[in-house]
Amino acid sequence: MSSDISWMKKGLRKRPPADWFSDPKSTTSDSSKTTGQVLTGQQKSGVDEGRLKPSEQVKDSEDDILNDGPAYQVRNEVTAVDAWNMHKDCKPSDFVLTTLPPIYPKGSNVLTIDPDGITECLIYAPTKALLMNTPGFPQRIRRPSVPSYEIREIPGRGNGAIALRDIEAGELIIAERPLIISPISISFPHHTSRLPNGVVSFAPVFKGKEVQNEIHRLFDLLIDRMDNSRKSDFMDLTNSHKESGDDGSSPVYGRSRTNGFAATINGGSKPIVCSAVGKEICRVNHSCCPSTAYHFEKASLSMELRAVRKIPKGEEITITYIEKDFASTDKRQASLQSYGFTCTCIICINPSESDAVCTFIRSQLVPHAANVTDPLEVALEHIELLEKWQMESYQIYQTYLMRVSDIYHQRGDMKTARKFMFSPRGSDLRTGRVSGLV
Ligand SMILES: [Zn+2]
Repeated sequence: MSSDISWMKKGLRKRPPADWFSDPKSTTSDSSKTTGQVLTGQQKSGVDEGRLKPSEQVKDSEDDILNDGPAYQVRNEVTAVDAWNMHKDCKPSDFVLTTLPPIYPKGSNVLTIDPDGITECLIYAPTKALLMNTPGFPQRIRRPSVPSYEIREIPGRGNGAIALRDIEAGELIIAERPLIISPISISFPHHTSRLPNGVVSFAPVFKGKEVQNEIHRLFDLLIDRMDNSRKSDFMDLTNSHKESGDDGSSPVYGRSRTNGFAATINGGSKPIVCSAVGKEICRVNHSCCPSTAYHFEKASLSMELRAVRKIPKGEEITITYIEKDFASTDKRQASLQSYGFTCTCIICINPSESDAVCTFIRSQLVPHAANVTDPLEVALEHIELLEKWQMESYQIYQTYLMRVSDIYHQRGDMKTARKFMFSPRGSDLRTGRVSGLV
């Protein structure tokens, strides 16, 4: 039984799983039953860059049986020595409350705040080491050359980001250090002991309501590390969990749940993904056909937003809160229900036509290039269709661009091939055509 909070996805007003506040059963088992508590709650597969979605809980090890010492610890760092401590003596399930980048230079007691800002982190002990061992960490944050947006109130949509000038495809719009980083999944371990007869005894560290209380305590400790200015920035963010009768999330935890974006700390077969909350990015409103793509940059500990198409001056800048999987309008609206608004983007206000387009595009996602007589013509047609429906942020759009580019490259037409290439700086973001070349 796990105290898993993996459902704390962005904007989630959904009720937690039925067993969320139930008592993890205190069990006594024989030595053959040694599967322990989930310790690596941050592991998550299939994570896209963007708003968080529920993750699969990963069953793991027997560590809590085999380790000695306290079953659960929280290291709330305050000193210069703490700041550079990798906590190698900690268990993987121990929490560290730390400020990154460190606010003290190595070996110094002189408080030195990074010019790009700092992030309060509630992370598992190994995650801190992963971040700080990132080559070049902390790199300077790439900044937009000229400010391009402002946050203002938009009738019927709350606060949102408006383009102050024309923004080119691929342009960096927002780059900021998160206010907080926290796990997307928390699992508290068990006290364990081996009885004289070899039987292993389990007892949960927290039972029932204690689980929620401890999570709230951890998030309160996290926010208490902030100065008043950053605390105010965080508490000014939307909280979708404040209505009476909701799941009882605290004001701090509710805001974290409402505003978290994925922050991939480690990729590979066992990805570690956290939740990052940014002051600016979290104010950008949703569209199923957004004008931007989000990306977390680990080396600079920053959240980035880039344009995926040209955004004219005065237009609202948008981001997506849901999967971009060509779902039907009904399914998309259902996914957005927890946010408390009805999307009025181009495909949501034309459901009959857009649903047919989405169905058609989904049918094209299977490998088919070998079966078409003119792959260039087909790819160009699909690019045109996707642009008509403002779907430049969808992966398939980038795939078609790449296909067209490759075909022209093979034909020796480098000039045209370049027009369909990704932006070199945004290649990992798949942000669209290169600004100025299209
Ligand atoms: Zn929509």
